[in-house]
Amino acid sequence: MNIEKFQESMYKLIVETSTNLPKDVRRAIKEAKERENSGTRSAMSLATITNNIQMADENVSPICQDTGLPTFKIKVPVGANQLEMQKAIKNAIALATKDGKLRPNSVDSLTGDNSGDNLGEGTPVIKFAQWEKDYIDARLILKGGGCENKNIQYSLPCELEGLGRAGRDLDGIRKCILHSVYQAQGQGCSAGFIGVGIGGDRSSGYDLAKEQLFRSVDDVNPHEDLRRLEDYIMANANELGIGTMGFGGETTLLGCKVGVMNRIPASFFVSVAYNCWAFRRLGVQVNPETGEIQDWLYQEGEKIDFAEPAAAEIAAAAEASEAPAVQEAITLTPPITEEQIRQLKVGDVVKITGRMYTGRDAIHKYLMDHEAPVDLNGQVIYHCGPVMLKDDEGNWHVKAAGPTTSIREEPYQGDIMKKFGIRAVIGKGGMGPKTLAALQEHGGVYLNAIGGAAQYYADCIKSVEGVDLMNFGIPEAMWHLRVEGFTAVVTMDSHGNSLHSDVEKSSLEKLAQFKEPVFK
Ligand code: SF4
Repeated sequence: MNIEKFQESMYKLIVETSTNLPKDVRRAIKEAKERENSGTRSAMSLATITNNIQMADENVSPICQDTGLPTFKIKVPVGANQLEMQKAIKNAIALATKDGKLRPNSVDSLTGDNSGDNLGEGTPVIKFAQWEKDYIDARLILKGGGCENKNIQYSLPCELEGLGRAGRDLDGIRKCILHSVYQAQGQGCSAGFIGVGIGGDRSSGYDLAKEQLFRSVDDVNPHEDLRRLEDYIMANANELGIGTMGFGGETTLLGCKVGVMNRIPASFFVSVAYNCWAFRRLGVQVNPETGEIQDWLYQEGEKIDFAEPAAAEIAAAAEASEAPAVQEAITLTPPITEEQIRQLKVGDVVKITGRMYTGRDAIHKYLMDHEAPVDLNGQVIYHCGPVMLKDDEGNWHVKAAGPTTSIREEPYQGDIMKKFGIRAVIGKGGMGPKTLAALQEHGGVYLNAIGGAAQYYADCIKSVEGVDLMNFGIPEAMWHLRVEGFTAVVTMDSHGNSLHSDVEKSSLEKLAQFKEPVFK
């Protein structure tokens, strides 16, 4: 095989996967957008999402800053040299990382050191299998941490919140799948796609669940019972009302694929792999002699262009909105006073103009026991691990910068806000009771940005004014960003209100409607 060409083909696959959503996924998002009532926060979020998809496409930049753990599934004809191919894939990964198409995401599990090129023990994941066909089938999925953390595995029989007993039968499986959607809430950047694996052991069950994510959104399950199950879930899971980003709304789930394998009599696992709306998986057919791409997978049908209508719809949604509209957004310019914060309430839309600082897991842990490198009094912390590129003059540029999952900072957030006088934190998915109590006591707000809208938010960042704690690596460092019109929704306020707990409570009540058996 021409291995240089194969490496080039793998580079193209990586770049396309990171920057250009496949057509089957675009179709599902378009349908969701049409279903959503205009004027709601969910409709506004979906408009931002489609705008973001378009921007990523045009800029050839990552759709979401979290480019996840690259996972390849490759089928090769007998005789293909897998060792050479593996080397070429790793080279392509390192190059795509250097070019800002992937975020450096591979860290030493014990020390936290980032390898800087996405290579390391166990990363990327490359799974080879042989087959009888005369071409190479190479597929890639980039699944980020926010949705990966919402994967869940059930061991039947079990008791499920809201649904009661789930037994070792099709109806028990149905309950597990509904519960998996409920427990994810908006934290995996809903609306999402789920892959379900029935049977196997704990590891092969999860493998089977992830395998389902490689199926096309439009395919029909050939197994009659599983087809019924998939149809049932798609028809009912959206009744939970969790909505895009967990803001409440019509669309929570965009796809459900179920697979089955044998198990041993003592175990009965149902494993669910949750994938966010930024469902970045693509595939190619490669000629085993020339190493060149012969065809792209998941690309049947017309390409859906989200260009103009999205911006127009943002305005229309805002105009029709009963909730505060984008035009009515409240401008915040840090440093923010306690009085300004106390005036904000859940549902308000704010636009931030001025300085904000990024802070993720490493920064939060560090700030518990150290002084901050900058004065954070009245400031805004953004839970974000951006994709950054340095130019030849040594200046940093933001390539992708959406919010990361905030709940990871729950043990630290309230203490840090009080210690340094921080007035607002921005992230996604909401935070827990400890942070809510601190917001009330200290005078702070939690702002929910649109998860995955990495291009949209990168566009709001007008300059990078500094960086501290680079020893934590690019995604974990504290970046000083100057932003303009950075839009987010107040989902936790200083009066003890949380949209997240309201939606969780109402979706639990709706979940209970599905308690009675459906499949005998
Ligand atoms: S869209 Fe959300 S869950 Fe998906 S990779 Fe991006 S931040 Fe993570």
